Amino acid sequence: MTPVRRSARIRARAPIDATAHRRFTTGEVLTLQRQVRASGVLQPLQDRLEHSIGRPRAVTVEAFVWATLANGKQRHHQGHIIELARTLNSLTPSQLSLLGVNDHDESQTFDGLDRLFNELCDALEDGWDAVVDGAVTRIDVDWYGNQLIQPSLANLPATSRSVAVDDTDVPTWGALHGELLEGDVDAIEDYPEPDEAGSAAVKRRGRKRRARVLSVGPDGRKVYTKDKDARGGHRSATNSRPAGPYVGHALHLAVQTRDVVSHNAIDEIRLGPDVPPVVKAFSLAPAGSHRAKAFVPTLIAAKERGHVIEDVVVDRGYSYLRAETLAHPLNRAGMHLTFRPMKHQRNVQPFRDDIVLIEGQPFSSHLPKNLWGPLPMPPMSSSDEECETYEEAFNRRARYRFQRHAGPDAEGTTRHRCPIHSGLLRSRQVPTSMRANRDVPLAELPEGETCCNGIVSVSAAELPLWQRIPAGTTAWRISFRRRLVVENANGGLKGGFVNIERKFLRVMGRVKMTVLLAATIFGYNLECIRAFTAKMAAEQATKKAAKRTRKKRVSGWTRLLGHEQTGQGETGFGPDPPLA
Ligand SMILES: [Zn+2]
Repeated sequence: MTPVRRSARIRARAPIDATAHRRFTTGEVLTLQRQVRASGVLQPLQDRLEHSIGRPRAVTVEAFVWATLANGKQRHHQGHIIELARTLNSLTPSQLSLLGVNDHDESQTFDGLDRLFNELCDALEDGWDAVVDGAVTRIDVDWYGNQLIQPSLANLPATSRSVAVDDTDVPTWGALHGELLEGDVDAIEDYPEPDEAGSAAVKRRGRKRRARVLSVGPDGRKVYTKDKDARGGHRSATNSRPAGPYVGHALHLAVQTRDVVSHNAIDEIRLGPDVPPVVKAFSLAPAGSHRAKAFVPTLIAAKERGHVIEDVVVDRGYSYLRAETLAHPLNRAGMHLTFRPMKHQRNVQPFRDDIVLIEGQPFSSHLPKNLWGPLPMPPMSSSDEECETYEEAFNRRARYRFQRHAGPDAEGTTRHRCPIHSGLLRSRQVPTSMRANRDVPLAELPEGETCCNGIVSVSAAELPLWQRIPAGTTAWRISFRRRLVVENANGGLKGGFVNIERKFLRVMGRVKMTVLLAATIFGYNLECIRAFTAKMAAEQATKKAAKRTRKKRVSGWTRLLGHEQTGQGETGFGPDPPLA
């Protein structure tokens, strides 16, 4: 028996209400128009979609893009075309003519937008080459989406050279027939991810009808809904639902995070100033598709756009990827990875006679055997104190690491020096090392043996898992924790600023969803900068107040001799410095 398909029944619909609610000032219209133009998306799209012959469009490309950003800036907006129609209908005729829309007919806005949106997305789906700023550029949806968010990244109040990368689920609007089971997910991974806590609970929720497979996509993966790009994937737990399988897309985000300013790769680290957690690059990919293929080109394109990205903190899902797909291409593009090695990466490999590779890092083979490991890592939710007890062994081991001495050169080759020659350890067998500070720990070398055979050259292929700070150390924990800013962005997109849940977008397919999500990310970035600036101003005010209180509590020379004779400057008296 075939099930009755509800969608096949024809139902009468009430006419859509496109009445406008909000008025923009002409100043706001012009400011946003400047941002639309600064994104650089208009020229290639206009060349492709606007023809001088034929009936003029009810909605211009500029008005369309403007409306997506105007809607995307609103807190708690929905990514619906009807919202764009309402936005345009709220403009006065003179404001509309600034966007190239003349003889506006309110009742035609929705249809005009919808038609243009479909044509734009069809064009972006195929992609084309256009000359942009004198260079041939491939115009496709990833280019469009990331160009569109560029104006929200101009004039940031604080910038860094580091990003944290993670993905978040965007369920498809398409209806799923039945339920997707854990075993049905055909995700593409270099290594199978172990079951996360919670997925077992999902499996036991009673007998459900297995999701109906509508077709198999060109990638060989199952298609469950009318959304031809949506696939099955895993998502992690949130406050409102457990971890488990879902059908849809994965939104990969590169979120700005603080830099590591200095560190000793053991237990000392200094992070740079706070920065707003804006999204610097993004990409929407079918759920369960290969993470590196979805994201590495996006990061490299972001660098080519002029963003300085040197350190990429990746979350656990990415650590499963083989070096050929993740670490090597990023390293070649000048990006260092900070990550938590996975179980299969935490092994010991003989390397050279004086070097042993442990978890991908070169260590002196004189490292005491009890530290060869694998050393236990603290469980995910440990407190700082609990972490420190685990880290003690990692910190002791880190002193035995070969330290990067030079490189990488153009081919990725690096040079490394032994721990005794680089001053991490002292040894009686190496008399020059004994001149070092007495705080430097002593290492025992076997009778008659030297510490090393000199500086070694290592090719990039030999050190695919190398990190500046060895995983497991105290400095690494603090550096790796910089990934948490992605939670900030996820929180903003999943409730704080908007809520990208199943009905947030009522369009299907990667291209259409990306075009609308780009405007949402643009809006999130502006909101993020506003919140950051407000927080900084509040902190400044608190500091100033504290300084004023401190000034009152004077003692010593000042109390005895009065303010005039203590001079200005370092004692904190005299006029405040001008505001930066
Ligand atoms: Zn040596």
